[in-house]
Amino acid sequence: MAHLRFDALKKLSERTPVHVDMPGPNVSKFYGELVFGSEQMRGTLAPAVFKKVSQAIKNHEKIDEATADAVASAAKSWAMAKGASHFTHWFQPMTGGTAEKHDSFFDALSGIEKFKGSELVQQEPDASSFPSGGIRSTFEARGYTAWDPTSPMFLYGTTLCIPTVFVSYTGETLDAKAPLLKALKAVDLAAVKVCQLFDKDIQHVVASLGAEQEYFVVDKALFDARPDLVMAGRSVFGHAPARGQQMEDHYFGSIPPRVYEFMKDFEIEAWKLGIPVRTRHNEVAPSQFEVAPLFEEVNVANDHNQLMMDVMMRVGEKHNLKIIFHEKPFAGLNGSGKHNNWSLITDTGVNLYAPTSSARDNLMFLTFFITTIKAVHEHADLLRASIATPGNDFRLGANEAPPAIMSVFIGSQMTAVLDELEKKGNVKIEKGDNMYMKLGIDQIPEIILDATDRNRTSPFAFTGNKFEFRAVGGSDNCGTAMTALNTIVADQLEKFFEAVSKEIEKGEEKRLAIVNVLRKYIKESKDVRFEGDGYSEEWVKEAAKRKLGNVKNMVHALDAYTTKKSADLFEKHGVMSHKENEARVEIKLESYIKRVQIEARVIGDLAMNHIVPTAINYQTKLIENANGLKGLGVDNKTVVQTIKEISGHIDTIKNNVRAMIEERKRINKVTDTHKRAIGYCDDIKEKYFEVIRDAVDKLELLVDNEDWPLVKYRELLFLR
Ligand code: ADP
Ligand code: MG
Repeated sequence: MAHLRFDALKKLSERTPVHVDMPGPNVSKFYGELVFGSEQMRGTLAPAVFKKVSQAIKNHEKIDEATADAVASAAKSWAMAKGASHFTHWFQPMTGGTAEKHDSFFDALSGIEKFKGSELVQQEPDASSFPSGGIRSTFEARGYTAWDPTSPMFLYGTTLCIPTVFVSYTGETLDAKAPLLKALKAVDLAAVKVCQLFDKDIQHVVASLGAEQEYFVVDKALFDARPDLVMAGRSVFGHAPARGQQMEDHYFGSIPPRVYEFMKDFEIEAWKLGIPVRTRHNEVAPSQFEVAPLFEEVNVANDHNQLMMDVMMRVGEKHNLKIIFHEKPFAGLNGSGKHNNWSLITDTGVNLYAPTSSARDNLMFLTFFITTIKAVHEHADLLRASIATPGNDFRLGANEAPPAIMSVFIGSQMTAVLDELEKKGNVKIEKGDNMYMKLGIDQIPEIILDATDRNRTSPFAFTGNKFEFRAVGGSDNCGTAMTALNTIVADQLEKFFEAVSKEIEKGEEKRLAIVNVLRKYIKESKDVRFEGDGYSEEWVKEAAKRKLGNVKNMVHALDAYTTKKSADLFEKHGVMSHKENEARVEIKLESYIKRVQIEARVIGDLAMNHIVPTAINYQTKLIENANGLKGLGVDNKTVVQTIKEISGHIDTIKNNVRAMIEERKRINKVTDTHKRAIGYCDDIKEKYFEVIRDAVDKLELLVDNEDWPLVKYRELLFLR
């Protein structure tokens, strides 16, 4: 029975690195060669048409038919010259991942290659098999994809891919991208209003994202020999290896040769696709790595992240490597996150989260900085919900991952600045005073640049010129978290603007009005700030005292979406209607149920068909052994003891697997999706997964290594 494992290990021992050559010495020579972006459009479109497209993109406007025809024609010629035969609308359904349906350029009817503007702008994929949370069945049976001109088309293989949103026929959004685009528009509008209090030249504000992607790499043969990795994307069993990450020798250590070649290979592919990958290194856990791109506008950065994950998985195959993005593929080791570095940048080139040497700009920086903290304080539950995935449940709140408690870390220097500003609440500012100096906000740049302290345990940390939302899961679509974050910040900025305007109306000087509102925000949002160890037990207690949420499970966390406060927030900013919002939660709950169901089955099947028979066979050998010893008059007590221990674990497994199956039958009859999801969370996952796992992992230590059917952690994680 252990054949599969040993065959896999043999394959592994014969592997050598697949050598990869750079296409040339300069990345700039091939960077973006597969992208039909702004540059290519400028080169191929008539100047007037190009201007129209650019304007429409900048102002979030519709592109007319004639312009679309011109773009389609240019894109087709460009793509065909590079060997393309097909085009596809590329979109991000709520299932996670990306979807595409390819159509050929060749039109048999006319006998020539064609690509019309209408085909670029809109397509009707067979949407019936994508989740819609009840929207489609109730309202309309079809959906369509619509071109997102703000993200460039690209050539993937021989297919021209067109980034699109996915919408139901009645107009409800059914994907991760559409609400994101709306949230980005909302934050643009709100931020511009606030910016204009300081600088009338600012016309647009763009949110930017740099998503650091963590992942595990496992040999393909070993991966395939683990049905749990194949079916559930994570290992449901496996005893921690004698050597885990306690040596801390993997982090920034040298990259294993096979992985190094893989990295070079996917980076080349990524660069060709215009994905600005930049940093690569080992992560904390054995066989864990990270890739970080240069930040880009959020929507494009997210498309690039989605595409990059796909590229990585495909290129991995060439190297006989499986790339795992799951948030917690291996118990007891660090999980994988996708730190979302985020900031707002004006069209005049100012990063609104970067302190500068100009006092006026610093007040603008403080405005955005404090308003963001206030937004997180107001909507911490929604932020928590926005990063809820089945996989992230295993990672958050574990003692080496951001806690499920949302808090903001700002570092000691910024804490001092805010404290000062708050304390000086009664400082009288007279006409002609240097207000900035009096309030201690003229000196920020030096303070910040001197030393930025870091706190790796915070879910939302200020890192000198950006916030880092660290709680996002490794496999997740950043769009969901970015939609929530940009919406809450947009809302808070609007409220800020209103409050300041009111004070000005009452006759307050503008700068003072701004400072007054900021002071109020500092006080009101203090509880969400935390500078200590987010992994500690004390913080859990302290957070409870401060009445901060600590929701450990996705199903319960999602409730934050459907509160009136959140639903109204999304609707107010045109991000999602109540109906869309509810549908999304429904989709997430359904997918949660399916995931836990699959895991429960994998656990049951592996335990009963692989582990229990192996343990019984081994036990039989031991019984023969014990009888033999007894016949010889030799003491067989330890052998008998082992036999008993094995029996105990087998009983635990069998009893719990049976009980879990019965419980599933009961829960499956529950018609309400929310209740069924809670059942799967509280009565299946929480109640049985760990108990069964514990017994299996104990057996792993008792049963002869030669007989054990599952590839062990030490084999999965330490082989190069
Ligand atoms: P660190 O995590 O140590 O701060 P970096 O400074 O390299 O590492 O940044 C990590 C990520 O943050 C990168 O993807 C980088 O492009 C991104 N980043 C840097 N500045 C910004 C910004 N202003 N807005 C959004 N992302 C940013
Ligand atoms: Mg980082």
